[in-house]
Parts: sequence; C-alpha cells; structure tokens
Amino acid sequence: MNDHQKKLSRRQIIKFMALGATVPFMNAFIGQAQAKKTSKETVQYRDKPNGEEKCSNCMQFIPGKTPGAAGECKVVEGSISPQGWCTAYAPES
Ligand code: SF4
Repeated sequence: MNDHQKKLSRRQIIKFMALGATVPFMNAFIGQAQAKKTSKETVQYRDKPNGEEKCSNCMQFIPGKTPGAAGECKVVEGSISPQGWCTAYAPES
C-alpha cells in the first residue's frame, strides 16, 4: 500500500466516522418531525364524511383493528373515525 492509498484510507475512515455520528442525529430529528401531528381543530376534523370523502379512503388513514373501528391518522392527532373527514383529506390513488 503506497502513501496515497494510506491517505485515502484515513479519509474514508474519517468520513465513515462522521457519517456514523450524523445518521443517528438525523434519524432523531426526522422522527421528531414525523411525530408532530396537527390538532383536529386546525383541520376542522369531524366524525362524519364529506360526501364520498372520508377517512377510510384517505391516504393518511391508519385503520383500526376492524373496518369499523377507530384508527389513526398520519397527520392529525388523536383517535380517528373511518367515517370522519377533515380539510387535509387526500384521496387514495
Ligand atoms: S387527513 Fe383528515 S380525512 Fe385524512 S385520515 Fe386524517 S383526519 Fe381523516
């Protein structure tokens, strides 16, 4: 191994060390950002559908244990009815 290869190896090691210190920090930061949900009041959530639009056919909905059970929403806090609706409604594609 020549000097150039040794220098390169040290650089790579330093990069990997820096990356190793950065990734957990970024994961924690992203996790916090994802954990923040908006309030039901902010998006005017209600337990009734808006025509054909309802939580059960919204891409943000996380179903409960049964089809009629309350679930969760990826962006709105609290228990969410599959028959509910809010202004953040986004149809499933
Ligand atoms: S974004 Fe609104 S409509 Fe969609 S699942 Fe969440 S609460 Fe329901």
